Amino acid sequence: MALTGPPAAVPGRENPPDRSPAAPPTGGTTDRVSAAARTRLSTGLAILTVVPLMRMAALRYAVPPGMPSRTGCDACGAPIGLTRPWPALGPTARCGRCRTRVGPPPGVVEVAVLAAVVLLLALAGSSGGALPALAWWLGWTIPAVLVDLAVHRLPDRLTLPAAAGTWLLLGVAALDAEPGHWLRAVIAGVGLALFFASTTLLLGRRGFGLGDAKLALSVGALLGWYGWPVLVLGLLLAFGLSALLSVGLLAARRAHWNTHLPFGPFLLLGTAGALLLSL
Ligand SMILES: [Zn+2]
Repeated sequence: MALTGPPAAVPGRENPPDRSPAAPPTGGTTDRVSAAARTRLSTGLAILTVVPLMRMAALRYAVPPGMPSRTGCDACGAPIGLTRPWPALGPTARCGRCRTRVGPPPGVVEVAVLAAVVLLLALAGSSGGALPALAWWLGWTIPAVLVDLAVHRLPDRLTLPAAAGTWLLLGVAALDAEPGHWLRAVIAGVGLALFFASTTLLLGRRGFGLGDAKLALSVGALLGWYGWPVLVLGLLLAFGLSALLSVGLLAARRAHWNTHLPFGPFLLLGTAGALLLSL
């Protein structure tokens, strides 16, 4: 893993007490340590910034189709936004006025973001330039999946920016890598989206939703960037996990044959799992 390399040295230990003001850092070790510290600091700041944004997106769009986006607490109407993010957009997820729980359950977004950081660190050495695209995709897809879990829909406002940014950032990565990777990513994204959309047309409500098809635009592109076998593995994982959970719920009599499970979470888990297994 990338950040385990340099030892936790004490910055400045090698510096003499009478250090000159313009003295450059001595030796590559100090450079590496300060670079690692900067990376950790910027990662921490990015997490602190992105978590309230994700919580707000999940809270805002977790409403039934046709309803306006949520802008405040359901119980007391207190507005929830980035001007006053705490405590509603914090880990406790409670309204600041009436203490009712709002948005995704406490800690869920935080754990998901930590898992995303671990995934990005694990893939840092082998992404072929796709890491910014993956980070962008996770940033939009985690709140989209939380909305899917809450109200069984994947909002365009989250899936379409996820797809546009993923395609764009993969295109930028392709400038330094193999242009064929981007072509394969685009073909995989379009192909997977068409497959999901065709099940909606053929099977109606028993097929996948159009939200799944729009999420597939980015899922297919990311998996396709890494290669056709990774795409197949990701789909096998997504369908396999979905089937396992369905059978488990049926056996436990928690679901019926016509129960509709949201598929977005399985696309997210299948993609993450396939990328990790392909290391
Ligand atoms: Zn309230």
